[in-house]
Amino acid sequence: MAPSIRIDLVSDTVTRPGVAMREAMATAEVGDEQRGEDPSTSALCERVAELLGMEAALFLPSGIMCNQVAISVHCRPGDEVLAAESAHIIGSEGAGAAVFAGSLIRAVPSEQGIFDGESLKASLNPPRPKTPRSRLVNIEQTANRGGGAIWPLKTVAQVAEIAHAHDLAVHMDGARLLNAVVASGDAASDYCAHCDSAWLDLSKGLGCPVGGVLAGSRRFIEDALTWKYRFGGGMRQSGILAAAGLYALDHNIARLHDDHDNAKRFASRIAEIPGIRLAFDEVPTNLVFFDVSGTGLTAPQISKKLIAQGIRIGAESDARMRAVLHLDVTRAGADEASDALAALIESEGGGSAEAAE
Ligand SMILES: *Cc1c(COP(=O)(O)O)cnc(C)c1O
Repeated sequence: MAPSIRIDLVSDTVTRPGVAMREAMATAEVGDEQRGEDPSTSALCERVAELLGMEAALFLPSGIMCNQVAISVHCRPGDEVLAAESAHIIGSEGAGAAVFAGSLIRAVPSEQGIFDGESLKASLNPPRPKTPRSRLVNIEQTANRGGGAIWPLKTVAQVAEIAHAHDLAVHMDGARLLNAVVASGDAASDYCAHCDSAWLDLSKGLGCPVGGVLAGSRRFIEDALTWKYRFGGGMRQSGILAAAGLYALDHNIARLHDDHDNAKRFASRIAEIPGIRLAFDEVPTNLVFFDVSGTGLTAPQISKKLIAQGIRIGAESDARMRAVLHLDVTRAGADEASDALAALIESEGGGSAEAAE
């Protein structure tokens, strides 16, 4: 399937390392990472720790491992993590918190994956022997299934203040933290100043083949290192991968603006198609969610028909689709995708604009 896809909006994970990134990888200085002897990996960790304003950082093979290592460090069996219902740690990590940390995750009422300090406070369990101990709050920046919504700095600060006052730690799932930074103008270190742990994904909009970097206090990272090995996340000459990360931090952050611009443009174009309705009022970053129930076609049907034309947009459900803009999709590519969608619905859609209401 993949080779025939020309314009791939299924995720920002599909980005492929370009020639210059591969060159940086090929010429990376390397050593045995598990012995702390890989200079490129050490440089990447220092770089990310500094970017996030944390004391130390750890290179891990994936974002999910960043979340699972952090939850395992913060929580003991019987503890509880609080997160928005749409959070990646609830729906997309194989119940890892239950499996590894023996912890449960409870949903805090949220809007587009974001909740405020009051909602968190109302959701906290009282400290009683028979209730699970509320121990960790998860902030997903940006909120993926919230339409790429950005947690405002003030909200992060307010939630963290409530959390810390009640002896909870604050973890930032920063898979797309840098998208939030670029869109909001607030520094990563300003968001992370309120967090006990935070990470960013190298393999999404930054365009690397592999990896996430988890940061926190020196003490947190010491414990996280044990969990990294326990999960089998220790590597060897990982400098080849870390070099891609260093390259991306140098070259691929500011350009996230282009993805956000393309996402807004794509959204405004498809909003004109009869039967299509944007799922959220705004497109703050690179994710565009939209409902197709007014078109007379289901999301999986549309997805399949577009794939036949070399264009991939993922179906989230029968009615909803998600288009993700990233560095391997040009403005022209995004326009071609929206044109193809419009043409498809005009020729094959059975619905009308009225049906969308
Ligand atoms: C992709 C994603 C992850 C997991 O990252 P991987 O690198 O794919 O393991 C975690 N949280 C969010 C919000 C994500 O979008």
